[in-house]
Amino acid sequence: MTKGKLFVIGLGPGESRFLTPEASAALGAAEALYGYEPYLARVPMRAGQTRHPSDNREELVRAGAALAHAAAGATVAMVSGGDPGVFAMAAAVIEAIEAGPAEWRALDLAIVPGITAMLAVAAKCGAPLGHDFCAISLSDNLKPWEVIEKRLRLAAQAGFAMAFYNPVSKARPHQLDTAFEILRAELPASVPVIFGRAVGRPDERMRVVPLGHARGHMADMATCIIVGSPETRLVERPGLPALVYTPRRAGEE
Ligand code: SAH
Repeated sequence: MTKGKLFVIGLGPGESRFLTPEASAALGAAEALYGYEPYLARVPMRAGQTRHPSDNREELVRAGAALAHAAAGATVAMVSGGDPGVFAMAAAVIEAIEAGPAEWRALDLAIVPGITAMLAVAAKCGAPLGHDFCAISLSDNLKPWEVIEKRLRLAAQAGFAMAFYNPVSKARPHQLDTAFEILRAELPASVPVIFGRAVGRPDERMRVVPLGHARGHMADMATCIIVGSPETRLVERPGLPALVYTPRRAGEE
């Protein structure tokens, strides 16, 4: 094992109250911080710690730079929003290790989990992920759109609740409407759809609509969407938002 160390750290969905004590300690131990600029901006400045912000799309380059820095003997932290293992940097770092020089495999690597967006959104509105569910990135940057359509159809047929990450981008404004059309062909129009935007941040917004009314313009890139299963339902409360929940039992006659 070489002397350097690389932490891959999940910052959680927003404010520092979501940061785990383990993540906080790892941030404190790091001599150098790498990550997408807006995530680095969430980490308090500390004297003697260098910062290496990068663009969103340069994941593999960023991973290689952090690995090389750690291999040179430094304690380095790579930060991700939410959890680093969910559509984020942990897989990019391991991809770089797989393809990189042998010394990177000998590095002390620690992946520090965080609260991922779907769990923060679910907790805000009840228990929509209370039974079987799956998580799908709707971005076609790293997979063909046909694969996404197939997964949506099969997940709906299988009765999973679903969490969608990366629901829209400027480059693909109509795909989310196509996704809802695919789901409407498989699921009752009454299935609850939750739009959780910027959860855990000051501009947080929650909205729950039936699948029949769900539209692409209700989401932006800071939104995580949860589509219920056919069993997911609302529990109305006087003067309070309805609870959205998926009962713990499914498929019983
Ligand atoms: N590693 C992150 C996900 C990165 S993919 C995690 O575990 O949460 C980026 C997507 O995450 C966004 O497009 C959005 O769908 C979701 N997301 C990230 N932060 C969010 C937040 N605070 N509220 C709602 N969705 C969020």
